[in-house]
Amino acid sequence: VFTPVYQEARRWLAERMSDAGLAVQFDDAGNLVGTKKGRRSAGPALMTGSHTDTVAGAGRFDGIVGVLGGLEAVRLLTEAGLALEHDLRLVDFLGEEPNDFGLSCVGSRALAGHLQAEHLELSATTGAHGTAPGECDTLAAALQRTGLEPAAALKASLRPHEVGAFVELHVEQGPVLERAGIPLGVVSAIAGIHRMVIEVSGRPDHAGTTPMEQRKDALAAAAEAVLAVEAAGGEGGVATTGRLKVEPGAANIVPGRVRMWCEMRSADPEWLRERTESLRERLASISARRGLAIELSPLSSAAPVPAAAEIIESINNAIEKLGLPARRLISGAGHDAAHMAAVAPMGMIFVPSQGGRSHVPEEHSEVSAIACGVRALAQTLLEIDRSLEYDQAKKTRLHPSNNQRE
Ligand SMILES: [Zn+2]
Repeated sequence: VFTPVYQEARRWLAERMSDAGLAVQFDDAGNLVGTKKGRRSAGPALMTGSHTDTVAGAGRFDGIVGVLGGLEAVRLLTEAGLALEHDLRLVDFLGEEPNDFGLSCVGSRALAGHLQAEHLELSATTGAHGTAPGECDTLAAALQRTGLEPAAALKASLRPHEVGAFVELHVEQGPVLERAGIPLGVVSAIAGIHRMVIEVSGRPDHAGTTPMEQRKDALAAAAEAVLAVEAAGGEGGVATTGRLKVEPGAANIVPGRVRMWCEMRSADPEWLRERTESLRERLASISARRGLAIELSPLSSAAPVPAAAEIIESINNAIEKLGLPARRLISGAGHDAAHMAAVAPMGMIFVPSQGGRSHVPEEHSEVSAIACGVRALAQTLLEIDRSLEYDQAKKTRLHPSNNQRE
């Protein structure tokens, strides 16, 4: 994101959207939006799309499948002569992956009204992308370099009921669909994430002269804590320790202090709460047995985001009409859709990832698998278009069981 290559790719994409008959614009939050006009002049729009930025050294499918797949769904509808009642907006959200400023989902965050003034002041951490290391660069400056007005980005949120439904096509980024030999996944929820720091405070001592039974080895205790975090994962969620900092950090000193960065993910808020509690208990017993202090401090907590029941039903109806097998699953990865859920009923369709790999150059999904996803997306948009009601009280509702036309 924010690189010349990214800008060039988006200009290319804007041309392809235009070729497909879409009215193209960049909105105030830097999202590239192509609109296919509906037959009605008023009422909520349907929205689909994803992102075209990637993590460093990643593949070509994460996000991009949802944008180019969305474009292909638009072409399918147009070629089949299927006009929609509602406007259809195809979006390439600005910067979904965590950027140099440590913020993810910049574009969808802005549309959802979740972009805050303090986000704009976040500063560059890596000095990548042409910024000299140490140069005081901010997200606001990066937005300005791409021709955006940061103050306008803060006000780019969608109006209430402006969008009646958001559906995102994405690669699974995990092994579930491939292992099951099932071509389509219907996402029931995007997992919540609890991040935490566990700090183990022991006592630094001479590694040659301190007898084993007199040590308060923070790293040995942390090793047990890492296993306790791992044990917290299992059915219903996952748990990971991703980083350790050991002090003083020399081979000839018994480690005095260790900080561990950990996270747990689950679609079930109760699971997250219970597992965090049981982890605290395990840490307390390690602490008591080894006679040193272990403290768990929460860093951040993002609640699970369930997909809207009516969108799940529309996706299921679409898949059933196409006669394709599908299964429900939970997204362990975060997505633009999690932000969009705040402003519109949200749903996601997954296609299999080869070997479950993602965020690596080997990331791959077969064209035939993506084509399945595109057909499911196009049919889902039709289903929603036919069932989306827009009443005078400006309430947007879906009536999937009330489809009058086929
Ligand atoms: Zn993605």
